[in-house]
Formats: sequence, structure tokens, C-alpha cells
Amino acid sequence: MQVAAPTPDEVQCPKCSAVLAPDQNRCGQCGYTLEEARLYDPKRFVLLGILFSSLVPIFISASNWGQIGNRRAQWLAVASGLVGFTALFTAFFYVPDQYAGVGRGLGHAINIPIALILRQRQQRLFQSGLRFGARSRSLFPGILGGIGLVVVAIVGSLLVTGGAGEQVRLRHGLRLLKEGQPVEAARVFEPMAGPNSKNGAAVFNLALCHFVLHRYEEAEVGVERYLKMAGPDADAYAFLYQIHLARGRPDEAAATAVKARQLDPNVFIRLFGTDSPGLVEADSIGS
Ligand SMILES: [Zn+2]
Repeated sequence: MQVAAPTPDEVQCPKCSAVLAPDQNRCGQCGYTLEEARLYDPKRFVLLGILFSSLVPIFISASNWGQIGNRRAQWLAVASGLVGFTALFTAFFYVPDQYAGVGRGLGHAINIPIALILRQRQQRLFQSGLRFGARSRSLFPGILGGIGLVVVAIVGSLLVTGGAGEQVRLRHGLRLLKEGQPVEAARVFEPMAGPNSKNGAAVFNLALCHFVLHRYEEAEVGVERYLKMAGPDADAYAFLYQIHLARGRPDEAAATAVKARQLDPNVFIRLFGTDSPGLVEADSIGS
């Protein structure tokens, strides 16, 4: 059937596009109603966005979309809000110090356009929702839910930057090792190579430090542990070969050299400059 285009005051049924009768809150055409729905009023979105970040307007919008049955928009809003803000908080971590103020200012300013766009999109939804019988609800749970999203995004970015922090410390430890400071380097690697560590690079580099310090037994334990964590690895076997030589076990050394060459025929040339290396000078390890 033909439906007349609605005037600005008229409200169309979202399901069948019929114009809602002025004294009704149920579509005369298909029976659509929102009598059970509870909607947040979007009019304070910009203020909320400035006070708490736009994750509050995002959470509130998602809740409203859920209330009118638009699950896709609901989860899209929550997911993109979380991903976007986790990325934003993570980016703050990498902004160089001299740009930190500008970066944070820009990061904060983005809340205003997001809140404005959502307010514009939600105002129609809210107004027509009320006409279909929905009731307005207190903003309080919406604010709490939005703050909950902020916490999740912060925790997410800490997990990302925590991993990055380990990368920074690893590089620092390797630099110390190359500069001939194995004791200091070991001190950097040790906290990352604890009994429950999954950081193979820290375990391996700590073993290197032990080797340089002539602590061959600890070096061997470390490299064996690394091989269990990371699986067969030519460099680790080549290193283990050196440990066997250092501990006076030429037969084990030869067997380990075979394993290393099976994984990478050039491993000894690559690491030690010769295919049949003797025990290297501890000082040359890591350089
Ligand atoms: Zn309808």
C-alpha cells in the first residue's frame, strides 16, 4: 500500500514505514511498539563525552540500539569503541615526550565530534522511540557502563604496552651485553625470565649472560629451557655446542653440532665465522 511521506512532526514505523497515528504508540499497520523499551536521552552527550570520554555516549547509544532491537548496531558500537580507545590509549604510550601535550590534547578533542555525531543519530531514535511508547531512563547506569568500557580499554592498552615494555627492556639488556656489561644485562633479563616466564628471548639472553660470566651450568639449564619453550633452534644448538665444549664434553658438543647444522647448515659460519669453531672467547658472545 502507498505510504505518505512523513512531515517533520510525523513518526514513521521503523518496521513497515507506516506513519504513526498522532494518538497512538503502536503502529496501526504492523503493531510495532516500544512499550517495553527504556531509552537514554542523548541531549547531554557532549558534556558526558568531555567529562568521561566518548565511551560513555558510545555505551549509551549501544544500549539504546539494543533496546529498539538493533543488535548489530549495538555490538558494532561497543566493539569499535573498545578497539578505537584501546588503540588511542596505546598510541599515547608511544608519543614522544615533546609532543605528549599536543597528542593528549588531540586525543581528548576527538571525544567532541564523536559525541556530536552520536547525539545527532540518537536524537531521532530517542524522540520516535518515546512516540512508540518507550520510557526515558536515568543516565546513571549508562555512565557507569561507559566508565566500565574506559577501564577495559585502559587494561587492554596496558597489556599491549606491557608487552612493548618488555621489548624495550630486552633491547636495553642486549645493548648492555654487547657493551661488555654481562652482570648488568643479567639483572635486566632475570625478572623477565622467572620460573613462569613465557619470554623465550629473555631466557635465552640470560643464558648468554651466564656463559659470558663462565657460569656454564646455569647457561646450560637456561638454553635447555629455551629449547623446550621455543622448539628446535639452530642458534640455540650452536650455543649449547659451545657450552658442551666449555664443560669439557667434546662428544656431546659434536652431537649437538650435528643437530644445529641439520637446522641451518651455515649456522656456525654465521655465528662464529668458521664451520668448525673451537670454544669462543666469552667476551665475543653477543657482539
Ligand atoms: Zn509498522
